[in-house]
Amino acid sequence: MAKVESFELDHNLVKAPYLRVAGVEKNDKGSTVQKYDLRFLQPNQDALPTGALHTLEHLLATYLRDELDGIIDISPMGCRTGFYLIKWEEDSPEVVVEALEKTLQRILDTEEVPAVSQISCGNYKDHSLFSAKEYAKNVLEKGLSRDPFERTFA
Ligand SMILES: [Zn+2]
Repeated sequence: MAKVESFELDHNLVKAPYLRVAGVEKNDKGSTVQKYDLRFLQPNQDALPTGALHTLEHLLATYLRDELDGIIDISPMGCRTGFYLIKWEEDSPEVVVEALEKTLQRILDTEEVPAVSQISCGNYKDHSLFSAKEYAKNVLEKGLSRDPFERTFA
């Protein structure tokens, strides 16, 4: 059975909100892909309601690309405690944290959710901008730790 890096993480020991480099993949053609966990909520204690998770997905997919180059994908974690970020090339976690903080700040000021029509979304009825903003605010107030196990902000 293949080993899945994130299944090796002890979810009882982490202290959310945090950003974590979950892996760096390099192939023999010289491509580098970096994977991050953007953990918003404490595992097994809280979870984003689907409306907030879905709206944050749309907003992060749009706004984080304005702040950070080389994004391949941002997807919700199935446990609904955060998001996976996959991007080209290696950036320092600090670059990604700053981009994410700016994006969350922008979410607090936004009045519309991109791509919420029946044509552009697979479940357009399940969105909550209000709830997305509340959880974004919560992450900013607690601060995004640069380390999953110790609350570290530099
Ligand atoms: Zn959607």
